Amino acid sequence: VSDRPPPHLDLEAFFAPRSVAVVGVSDRPQNLGSNIVANLASWGFAGAVYAVGRGGGRVHGLQVLPDVEQLPRGVDLACVLTPAATVPGIVEALGRRGVRAVCVESSGFGELDDSGLALSREVSRAIRRHDMRLIGPNCLGTFATDSRLCCSFAGIRPLRAGPVGLVSQSGGVLFSYLRDLDESCLGLSRAASIGNKLDVDEVDLIHHLDRHPQTRVICLHLEDIRRGRALMEAAAGCSKPIVLHKVNRSPLTRTIAASHTASLLADHAVVEAAARQAGMVAVEDTSAALLAANALLLPPLRGRRIAVVSRSGGHAVIAADACAARGFELPPLPGSLLDALRARLRAGVIRLGNPLDLGDLWDIDAYRAILEQIAALELVDGIVFVAVQISAVDPAVHRRIATHVAEVSRNAQKPIALCYMSWRETARQLGQEVDWPQFAFVEDAVSALALLRDHHLRQSPPRPSPPEVARRTTGGAEPMALEDCLSLLRRFELPLAESRVAEDPERAARAARTVGFPVVVKLLSPEVVHKSDVGGVALGLKSAAQVRRACHGMAEQIAARRPEARISGYLVQAQADPGLELIVGFRRDPVFGPAVLVGLGGTLVEVLRDVALRVAPVTADDARSMLSELSGAPRLEGARGAAPLDTPALCRLIERFSRLALEEQETLLELEINPVILYPEGRGCVIVDVRGFVTNEEPG
Ligand code: ADP
Ligand code: MG
Repeated sequence: VSDRPPPHLDLEAFFAPRSVAVVGVSDRPQNLGSNIVANLASWGFAGAVYAVGRGGGRVHGLQVLPDVEQLPRGVDLACVLTPAATVPGIVEALGRRGVRAVCVESSGFGELDDSGLALSREVSRAIRRHDMRLIGPNCLGTFATDSRLCCSFAGIRPLRAGPVGLVSQSGGVLFSYLRDLDESCLGLSRAASIGNKLDVDEVDLIHHLDRHPQTRVICLHLEDIRRGRALMEAAAGCSKPIVLHKVNRSPLTRTIAASHTASLLADHAVVEAAARQAGMVAVEDTSAALLAANALLLPPLRGRRIAVVSRSGGHAVIAADACAARGFELPPLPGSLLDALRARLRAGVIRLGNPLDLGDLWDIDAYRAILEQIAALELVDGIVFVAVQISAVDPAVHRRIATHVAEVSRNAQKPIALCYMSWRETARQLGQEVDWPQFAFVEDAVSALALLRDHHLRQSPPRPSPPEVARRTTGGAEPMALEDCLSLLRRFELPLAESRVAEDPERAARAARTVGFPVVVKLLSPEVVHKSDVGGVALGLKSAAQVRRACHGMAEQIAARRPEARISGYLVQAQADPGLELIVGFRRDPVFGPAVLVGLGGTLVEVLRDVALRVAPVTADDARSMLSELSGAPRLEGARGAAPLDTPALCRLIERFSRLALEEQETLLELEINPVILYPEGRGCVIVDVRGFVTNEEPG
């Protein structure tokens, strides 16, 4: 694998081949292979096309060759659509004929089914033997508007060329994306449906599309991610914005009801954190993906100050509300600019300000002048322009408006989100004629700017990530003994409240004298995960007698409420001063590796869900940005006259905890500090409780 050329170099044959062979063609009406031949013809593919099929004959004017051996040597791309069982032999034969790129569109390689798996392995061997690259199996092939290539086995009419590169795991979803792209004002550059991802995956295609000049934004629809770290690295290094639409949000792997960390670090939450860290825009659905793609084609939005310019006063009000709801400011426009406008306009008809209501001003050149003046203002970061055109729709007028918007926005390098409010059909047609994003709703235009702002504010320089995680555990998890968790924290020099283990009440009393009163006593039992739930935590003990009594009390409670639980001893801990209680945890995600969370709220953390997530490593700087994401962040800064808390100490703790997560053995699945108690500036923080889970399967 390592001596392969960089993946982007040899993927070109999938999109701009000089010749294509379609294997599995016949003249039967239900034959799908012949649709590929028909698509290549209807799209106007200019290269050579060969058809191969056992039945021979003629299809769409092409002579069908009876087998692969009849192909000329070195055809650039082959599309295979034959029964799964025949595919390994065909791929092998194609390799021998010098083909290096193959789309296997056939299905029947299902991962759950053993015979499918065996076939997949045979195909993998064939492509390795002949140094080939393969897309699929179980896919709709590749599309390229620049080379007018369409390898779909479903008939698809030629699509408009545009800036969007598309990667979709499902052929059906790819189709719906293609349809929506074609209907929107965006068009397609290149697309691949990647199916089972036996060889080429989204990571390879990001590298490829990054180097494809016509592609300006990349949309990924993924059902699974197998190379999480490689995806993060490719995305972080990609010069073009990437929209990630990840579906198949499996509930939890290895759910442990006992732990907050497991429920808050669900697989999909980790995907979202990883996407954000790698600079991708994660979206929930197809329409959000298209909105994001539109937004990301605009120049960057560098701040929060927006000007709203509208031909309809009503929409201007809606836009102002939408801006406020999304955290934007509408700064007052300078009086000199408004005076100049007033001179030009009929007084009294319009409202001059921000929003700027253009009233019945119907002068395309004036629009341009106004947008130019506003875009030039230092106090404006972006503009929402609502152009309403309901009656007397004139395509030429729209083209001029959209072209002006595009030119002004590009020249100023500030985004102008154009909301073109007209009949849907009209807006759609007109949108396709101009190469500029266009939004059908005022709210969408404002959302697009919000997305753009968040995207650019988040951009942080990529940094090296640890290698891919190879682990795929199927086993369950079991709780670690509290004593072992504590030693783990000590080993990584995390600030732990002084803690001693005692086997019995008498020794506990002695340990308490050494620790110094007041102390806290906790029950140690392998069967008890939530100690306070069973009366296993006693706070504020001031004497040896109280410690003894607390231990005996716990033993009695346990005997009554959890007779199966063994008592392995008592933990005697220094009582920590009251402070702000936080949770810091990590879970080892099977795809992205350890993901770290921090949150406020101690036991309420799951109810409040006020947490921030990152895929490790988490530096102290990252930790600071995590804390700023919490809605409870003001409490850290000392809200309501309270002293600011020692967040630097907490950030150092998080950084160290992330190192523990990366350096500890992979059998440690999860670790949760709850709570760490944070004190005012200069007084640090202290950990009083921790819970861990290890895999219960033998490594190997
Ligand atoms: P569990 O989470 O298993 O119920 P903890 O050890 O977290 O047990 O104790 C429950 C609560 O008691 C903590 O959330 C914290 O508020 C308080 N607590 C525990 N240990 C200490 C300590 N050493 N000093 C001060 N408060 C403590
Ligand atoms: Mg606890």
